[in-house]
Amino acid sequence: MLRIRPDNGTVRELNIPKEQLEVLEKIVSSPRTTDDIKKIMIKKFAKVSPCCVCGGIPSLEVVYDADGASRVERYCESCANRVFTRNAVL
Ligand SMILES: [Zn+2]
Repeated sequence: MLRIRPDNGTVRELNIPKEQLEVLEKIVSSPRTTDDIKKIMIKKFAKVSPCCVCGGIPSLEVVYDADGASRVERYCESCANRVFTRNAVL
């Protein structure tokens, strides 16, 4: 489990089924896969939007409550660590 603490956000882990994840990883790691295809495939298999930083397979989502409307951002593990750990350090 990640130890991240985004400001006023709630972290939820995405539970993408293992088989789906394996298929996705294969597709995304292929050099022939364009960013557009990646996005479509992640939506199709994981039923979520890609990581908002790198466009990769997300592993968690952060839900922000903004004036009654919630905003959701999805991150892969390495981007989440980079983004939120840096915030914590500063
Ligand atoms: Zn990422």
